[in-house]
Amino acid sequence: METRLTWYGHAAFKIKTPTAKILLIDPWITNPAFTRGTNELVGLDRVDLILLTHGHSDHVGNAVEIGKRTGATLVSNFDLNAAMVSVLDYPERQAGNETTGHLGGELSLLQCKVKVQFVPAWHGSSIQQGENAAPVYAGNPTGLIIALGDGPTIYHTGDTDLFSDMALVKRFHKIDIMLVCIGDHFTMGPARAAEAVKLVAPKTVIPMHYGTFPVLTGTPEVFEDELRKRKLKSKLRVMKIGDTIAL
Ligand SMILES: [Zn+2]
Repeated sequence: METRLTWYGHAAFKIKTPTAKILLIDPWITNPAFTRGTNELVGLDRVDLILLTHGHSDHVGNAVEIGKRTGATLVSNFDLNAAMVSVLDYPERQAGNETTGHLGGELSLLQCKVKVQFVPAWHGSSIQQGENAAPVYAGNPTGLIIALGDGPTIYHTGDTDLFSDMALVKRFHKIDIMLVCIGDHFTMGPARAAEAVKLVAPKTVIPMHYGTFPVLTGTPEVFEDELRKRKLKSKLRVMKIGDTIAL
């Protein structure tokens, strides 16, 4: 079995593992850039894990609805898990200590077929019950390194700026796929994202978190130029929203 990766736009991805488990990352399926989002959301009936990088609404997205409907287990850091349960009513029995970690820690999940490591990201993290509600503390934001048994190792940067400690990622993991934010404004833009790719040295890089709103001005074209300027060996793969690729 191969691994399949679907991009829903923004930072939202679905991974189908070699053992046919379904993982969602930052599942904002109904984001404004994904026209089929509502239909796709209804069709998500079997989900094993929901992984979150931080608590902002464009990343928590439809997680609570999907979790309640499918029984999916929440995987995020300790503070975010607590806020998801207490503020947004994510089912507590699906957000226990076994799937809750924190920076530097690695979780073995789904009979050790999936390993998830929490790594730093430079951003913010809070949870809001509604658009104008007061933000509630949700801990540090993270990036996620997801190593699939018999499959690739994927690094989702979360929302972040460039930082030199990204170089530590490759000391412990050979990254096959790096999902990197390039949109600028709230995260690094194309030039800084290309520097991040240089530090991590993945086999393939897939840009994300751009174009969802007008302020996210980074584009794959400028990102490609920035990668080329640096003569990097990582292969750029630009996904269309809603596309599924085999890894
Ligand atoms: Zn974001």
